[in-house]
Amino acid sequence: MKQRTLTILKPDTVTRHNCGAVIARLEQEGFEIRAARMVWLSKEQAEVFYAVHKDKPFYRPLVEFMTSGPVWVLALEREDAIEYLRKVMGATDSAKAAPGTIRQQFGTNIERNAIHGSDSPDNARTELAFFFSTSDLA
Ligand code: UDP
Ligand code: MG
Repeated sequence: MKQRTLTILKPDTVTRHNCGAVIARLEQEGFEIRAARMVWLSKEQAEVFYAVHKDKPFYRPLVEFMTSGPVWVLALEREDAIEYLRKVMGATDSAKAAPGTIRQQFGTNIERNAIHGSDSPDNARTELAFFFSTSDLA
């Protein structure tokens, strides 16, 4: 089933000039880009986006990292997009992510891991709506 998911190319990917390479990889993997936008998240936006983690020890540093520079947000479409993107991204910790995954190739550690991907259909819907209105989506 064709699905849409949200990805974020995190500030480390932008500052290390890896956006082109990551997007090329996503296109090679069969994702269609349905919308894309560069945003510099406010502290409030990052806090809301990651609210599910608000009681975790990494929450404050994560908000700090995600607001340290601009990011690219993209709406991606593919067969089984949500699960497939998580597979191509690899494990959360770039240092432990499997060879060939985006996080292994372009990330650094458990925080600076290059890319975000929605983890469920419910979250994909919420996260896409967080950044895009229906009229933005191709
Ligand atoms: N994160 C972190 N320390 C941790 C776990 C996560 O800094 O111990 C950061 C990392 O950038 C991760 C984000 O918080 O991508 C959200 O965490 P989650 O557990 O949802 O991982 P993901 O779904 O991104 O793989
Ligand atoms: Mg997550």
